[in-house]
Amino acid sequence: MATRRKVIQRMMEGAVFMGTGGLIWGKAIQTTTKADYVLRPPGALKEKNFLKACIKCGQCVEACPYDTLKLAEPGDGIANGTPYFEPRSIPCYLCTDMPCTDSCPSGALDLKLLTKEEKPADINNAKMGLAVIHKESCLAYWGIRCEACYRACPLIDKAITLDYEVNKRTGMHAKLLPIVHSDVCTGCGVCEQSCIAEKAAIFVLPLDKSTGEVGDHYIKGWEKKDENRINDDVKKVDDEKDVESAIDYLNDNDLIDD
Ligand code: SF4
Ligand code: SF4
Ligand code: SF4
Repeated sequence: MATRRKVIQRMMEGAVFMGTGGLIWGKAIQTTTKADYVLRPPGALKEKNFLKACIKCGQCVEACPYDTLKLAEPGDGIANGTPYFEPRSIPCYLCTDMPCTDSCPSGALDLKLLTKEEKPADINNAKMGLAVIHKESCLAYWGIRCEACYRACPLIDKAITLDYEVNKRTGMHAKLLPIVHSDVCTGCGVCEQSCIAEKAAIFVLPLDKSTGEVGDHYIKGWEKKDENRINDDVKKVDDEKDVESAIDYLNDNDLIDD
């Protein structure tokens, strides 16, 4: 049976664990969360592969003329020595000569990921993340005129457009609502930096945090590409039926030797 002294000692140890262990655990959670939302330079491989490939040389950081990129330091909550950026401080200005991607010696940043349809690499194909809008804190959605993000976007009228909507509150004004187009948005974050709200109402998130997935079982019958998927599936079923009926034929006609 534990003596009173031992019981008190264990209680003290528990308290110390809750103090120090809690701090460490809290830090670990903080670290995981920040790393999950990190934004990498243009042309970066998918996060897991990026972490394997990046040799932490910092050449991309040195090549960036705007000081957009930083190398993570201990305490940043991001894999130490890897490059990242925080658009609210300094966004990516989409340099047409892509010095950061071009300077990477390890392939962690890959110009091939900035190409489309076998054309030369183009910074506008970057997919560093996707800008999302928090409507409740966006002045335009309140009905107050603000086009700061729209005007700042380097791909104005492509990555962000303005939609007109009647202001139901006043009944006589129009709202000009910024809409982000995920197929064009590069995740550069110029919009996030330009947002006039105290905490940006438009901000860039990594693609896996900003996009959903419908799944393969819904088909847009009105789109050629999706319609072809139906035809492919029907053909697959027909092919399977052909194989089944061939086997049935062989079985029915007793042509297979036992
Ligand atoms: S594209 Fe230009 S601004 Fe953007 S991270 Fe690379 S070097 Fe910096
Ligand atoms: S240049 Fe490439 S390998 Fe070097 S730190 Fe940047 S991403 Fe990593
Ligand atoms: S992140 Fe913002 S500024 Fe950059 S392309 Fe997307 S919508 Fe435009």
